[in-house]
Amino acid sequence: MKKNFKIAILSGDGIGPEIMKESIKIIDLLNKKKIIKIEINEYDIGGIAIDKYNEALPKHTLNGCKNSDSILLGSVGGPKWTNIEAHKKPEIASLLPLRKYFNLFVNLRPSYLHPKLYKFSPLKKKIVKYGFNIICVRELISGIYYGLPKGRKKTKKSYYAFDTSIYKKEEIERIANFAFQLALKRKKKITSIDKSNVLETSKLWKEIVIETSKKYPEVNLSHLYFDNAVMQIIKNPKIFDILLCPNLIGDVISDECGILTGSIGMLPSASLNTKNFGIYEPAGGSAPDIAGQNIANPIAQILSLSMLLKYSFNLKEISTKINYCVEKSLLQGYKTYDLDETKKNFLNTNQMGDIILKFLAQEL
Ligand code: NAD
Repeated sequence: MKKNFKIAILSGDGIGPEIMKESIKIIDLLNKKKIIKIEINEYDIGGIAIDKYNEALPKHTLNGCKNSDSILLGSVGGPKWTNIEAHKKPEIASLLPLRKYFNLFVNLRPSYLHPKLYKFSPLKKKIVKYGFNIICVRELISGIYYGLPKGRKKTKKSYYAFDTSIYKKEEIERIANFAFQLALKRKKKITSIDKSNVLETSKLWKEIVIETSKKYPEVNLSHLYFDNAVMQIIKNPKIFDILLCPNLIGDVISDECGILTGSIGMLPSASLNTKNFGIYEPAGGSAPDIAGQNIANPIAQILSLSMLLKYSFNLKEISTKINYCVEKSLLQGYKTYDLDETKKNFLNTNQMGDIILKFLAQEL
């Protein structure tokens, strides 16, 4: 089994560098314990890259990523860069091209609530007292976000804007196959979400998902319209396992599922291609409102590293141990600012990272 890996570290802006430090501590620990050998190389991306090199995704950053086995990203963007031209903004000019370049067609967003941590959820106790474990499988590089033409037009009569939503059969097949393969390793249950009562792309989506399901007779497939799905997830999240979504729908659904666990600061994500190369990053953004204060929750970044070890490096045992240590720290009452109702009794970013690190050192 391969034991030497290279990770490109792109901390980015806002809280990115603060929470990334806590993941790097874990990588250092794994190296120190000689469990695996991970070489890390840090590159600028997003606003900080605009400041230094006048572009959000400099060539040397992209080259560094190409020479790595996977990417661990913090977050990009912030108020400092809101007034620049839309196509040069940190998120648009760095994340979208990176996803497209590496063909990262699948976005995975786990949303897990341990039954004993139900108090973190904004939902009522009677709904979440048994916890839930959902994973959103979102198609990431097609649909309305990428479809062309898009733009604005002025005519004598009107001024309008337009976007194009396109899904090709093979794009739907690819993401559906991924979801079905994943379902075989989980509860063999998929809910596909679409708007096939209105949209042509959604009709094709549903048809192809049904066609793909014939290869996986042991997986239970059901369908929900987008608007209904939003309601059903809030009403009873524990009945869901895999949610299979087109790009825009997945963007909304994954955020909804995420917040049900209590804080966006705990949510990791993975964007993968067919070769298990991926970008792993917190679901949240650069959180400018708390950046520089050492109060951000590092869990999303640490769990993103855990996903990287599992999905890109096939190191499932180490990944499980990291997840266990995160859960252990929460169950023992350790929490960061975002999880603390009183806002008086919380750990700082580095203190939370150190607790998880301490537990992990005992486990390895
Ligand atoms: P955000 O996710 O940055 O912040 C929303 C709220 O969540 C804030 O109150 C913030 O403090 C909180 N939050 C986020 N991460 C947290 C953490 N780890 N710990 C504790 N609290 C956390 O979303 P926003 O305010 O809409 O966006 C801010 C900037 O980030 C924008 O420029 C946006 O474009 C960018 N953004 C980047 C990414 C990315 O890099 N992938 C994703 C989303 C937003």
